[in-house]
Amino acid sequence: MQTVGVDVGGTNIEVGLVGDDHEVLGNAKRNTPVEGPGAVLDVIAELVAEVGGDPVGIGLGIPGVVHEGRALTVPNLPGWDDPVDLVEGLSDRTGLPVVLGNDGNVGLLGEWLHGAAKGHDDVLGVWLGTGVGGGLVLGGRPYLGSHGAAGEIGHVVVRDGGQLCGCGRRGCVEAYAGRRSMQTAVRALVDAGRTTTLEELRIDKGKESMTSSVWEAALANGDELAQEVFGTGVDALGVGIGAVLNVLDVDLVVIGGGLAEKLGSDLADRIEESTTPWVMRPSPDLRFCVAALGDDSGVVGAAALSRSAVIAGS
Ligand SMILES: [Zn+2]
Repeated sequence: MQTVGVDVGGTNIEVGLVGDDHEVLGNAKRNTPVEGPGAVLDVIAELVAEVGGDPVGIGLGIPGVVHEGRALTVPNLPGWDDPVDLVEGLSDRTGLPVVLGNDGNVGLLGEWLHGAAKGHDDVLGVWLGTGVGGGLVLGGRPYLGSHGAAGEIGHVVVRDGGQLCGCGRRGCVEAYAGRRSMQTAVRALVDAGRTTTLEELRIDKGKESMTSSVWEAALANGDELAQEVFGTGVDALGVGIGAVLNVLDVDLVVIGGGLAEKLGSDLADRIEESTTPWVMRPSPDLRFCVAALGDDSGVVGAAALSRSAVIAGS
């Protein structure tokens, strides 16, 4: 059986055709349109046609709160202020059944079924992208919470009255560690007279925003401003992850998303270091690692969501 997994991020949309053993048979990627849900659905439908194959359903991971098949809030995409019926919108365009999930949850699901979290019963997934997403596996099964909003590590508040977050509140992890927030911080510091190579690197690479590869290059060059802003993000992640560990006592933290793919285990080590001081009783078994499926975690997890729905419905 083939299913399609769709990973909608604040910067890119990735679509993959996935086979029986969670293997990605083909994929396609495009920038996320900024004209609102209709434009996003049009691009997804085009990408689904592009990957081809013979899929029986589509799983769609989006960066927002998903409840009973509807997207309730999508803070990082412009024009998504009201709840949107993505399931109907995408099945109308493709003729395939569609199931919806949160991007952090499906990312961790992919890693749990086929990647770094395989075989672990208690896992926190932290997805670093335009925003900061997350997911949980507890007691050997994915945990979504009472209304689908669990795992939102990006919106754990780590600084009372801190930086403004995309969700409208202040001091969230994402307000320091999300790429959009880091870019805002860099530009404010440049306006205040600081210098950085980040903007030049962005232009050289032909990117509209400071992507993970732009950050990777600046950090590798020893760009001081990049290191400072990134360090603040890692510190905020440490405080937030520490709080989660104190409540849930998971034994694995998987770091995924574009930055994790670029920076690899160094990033997992740095986040572990920034988390440890905030954990009351660190487990000797606690490990931090980066996602094994790289860019494909979300696609694999979303496709698996569709597979389960098709099997349950047949
Ligand atoms: Zn927030």
